[in-house]
Amino acid sequence: MDDCIFCKIGKGEIPSTKLYEGGNVLSFLDINPASKGHALVIPKKHYHTLLDMPHEEMKEVMEIVQKIAAAVMTTIPGTEGFNIIQSNNEVAGQVIPHVHFHIIPRSKDDKLNFAWEQGNAEQEELEKYAKLVKDKL
Ligand code: 5GP
Ligand code: ZN
Repeated sequence: MDDCIFCKIGKGEIPSTKLYEGGNVLSFLDINPASKGHALVIPKKHYHTLLDMPHEEMKEVMEIVQKIAAAVMTTIPGTEGFNIIQSNNEVAGQVIPHVHFHIIPRSKDDKLNFAWEQGNAEQEELEKYAKLVKDKL
């Protein structure tokens, strides 16, 4: 897509701090990191959300997500864990409409907080939603 920042990064038209490039996948550091080593992994082709991606490309992207996460864990000082965040559509917080996975290194006392307030649900309600989803698989 012509005016997509991540497409431009994928084509090398906008510079990025690359971690990996190969096949259909690119990884680079986030320009406004949530923590040191915050990395992004994208398919080079433009897809708006995860649901638009062919399975084969999903597999390639996920393999690189795992590889980058493993490398981040052993190289970025203080890293003891990581979060993978992947947002779909504006309502979910997706700002750049090109599929991307965030790999956010976590360390003790990093003050990041991705927690949400836990809700409640009756078993009947859980079963209702389970049926809706299962019937669509
Ligand atoms: P979203 O909010 O859509 O999940 O994440 C978009 C991410 O892309 C943000 O964390 C933002 O800092 C990052 N970002 C936006 N523009 C650029 C850019 O030009 N270069 C790099 N490396 N990261 C970017
Ligand atoms: Zn794009």
